[in-house]
Amino acid sequence: MKRALLVNPWIYDFKCHDFWVKPYGLLRISTFLKENGFETDLIDCMGRHDEDMAEYGAKDRQFGRGDFYQEELDKPGPYRKVPRKYKRYGFPEPVFRKKLEIKKRPDVVLMASSVTYAYQGVFDAIKLVKETFPDAKIMLGGIYATLCPEHAREKSGALSVWKGEINNDFISMLNSYAGANIRNLPETGMNEVFPDYSFYPAAPYRSVKFTQGCPFACTYCAIKKFGEGYYQRKQEGILEEIEGYANKGIKEIAFYDDALLYKNHFIKGILKQIIKRRYNFNFHPSNGLHAAYIDEETAQLMRQCNFIEPKISLESSDPDVQKTTGGKVTNQIFERAISNLKKSGYAGNDIGVFILNGLPGQDEKSVMSDVEYLKKLGVKIRHSVYSPIPGTFDFMRLKPEIRAELSAEPLKQNEYYFLAINPDYNWEANLRVKAEIDKHNNKS
Ligand code: SF4
Repeated sequence: MKRALLVNPWIYDFKCHDFWVKPYGLLRISTFLKENGFETDLIDCMGRHDEDMAEYGAKDRQFGRGDFYQEELDKPGPYRKVPRKYKRYGFPEPVFRKKLEIKKRPDVVLMASSVTYAYQGVFDAIKLVKETFPDAKIMLGGIYATLCPEHAREKSGALSVWKGEINNDFISMLNSYAGANIRNLPETGMNEVFPDYSFYPAAPYRSVKFTQGCPFACTYCAIKKFGEGYYQRKQEGILEEIEGYANKGIKEIAFYDDALLYKNHFIKGILKQIIKRRYNFNFHPSNGLHAAYIDEETAQLMRQCNFIEPKISLESSDPDVQKTTGGKVTNQIFERAISNLKKSGYAGNDIGVFILNGLPGQDEKSVMSDVEYLKKLGVKIRHSVYSPIPGTFDFMRLKPEIRAELSAEPLKQNEYYFLAINPDYNWEANLRVKAEIDKHNNKS
């Protein structure tokens, strides 16, 4: 029997929390490989509920969220001036080593990667895998591999770097590395494959995806690099999957969809079935929801199904910014969505709204006016700081010399580094905005 070792490496960053995140792509591959006669094993460095992490005090907060184990690291050169601690999040190194030592020699190693600027955690994980299995055939995929393939090919130490979604070319490559003969993917690719949660007996939640991709094209987002299309799963498969979670007593379900509500008859159909079957989940939409699809009925169904803190993507309340970044929302559409959610029973502070601070050309005054706008609506403000992502329209609009600098060193794509070179929105401005948001959120 062929063996695949799946590795979800560490994250090195200034901040990282467990908002129900799981290496979803690897878990789907695991199911597919098992169906094709493989034995699979997983080392998830971010696995807070792993039995070997018990002594490191991994505690759950509300709804199964929590903090990762973390160790401070020396800051690499570009980060010397960032006034935050730089950390490795996830397993202590001895836990990772111990896991590797007890694994059988794999025929192939599939390594995931997350945000581009966390690549050092990937490199260190590859190094450790090679120390234990010197001839390991490592295939590196995921976000960093897709957005910075040249950097990854040159420096990661992986045998191959895979860009984008899993397709039949990926399967052929895997076959040649592992000496296997896996059949082609089904017509729907990996979209209908259930994630393999057998590796997480103690995790109190499940992350799910009912859709794949996004039909929108925001100028700051790189989603199209992971596949052009948008796919909604078959209702039958979705219900079978969550029935399995209900039978195991799972209470918390987190969505990782990028466009869960798009053309909302899809989600309405599923939510109606969930109500009919009397499932008792808390649903957590981790990513922003599209305001345009929150009509009265959708809002009511979300409420009835226990959607906890639905978060709407606004990004900016400036109509010009909304238009020039892709036009996924207007203030009118947004306010109607908020009103529908309130009518369905959500209080203002039960509703989160994402804004994106420091977009190219956006200054503190503009961000503060977003904050004031949301304060008047009485909703919770969830803000993130813009980071330049290769492959996006906005990245291409950067000055050529900045683009070259950021492309050569992905660490510089970190939002905190970018605050140091963004002429319109800097570290101090962001602290003032954050203080204003905290004051509002703590009051509401
Ligand atoms: S709607 Fe969201 S996922 Fe879709 S392109 Fe815009 S930012 Fe990306």
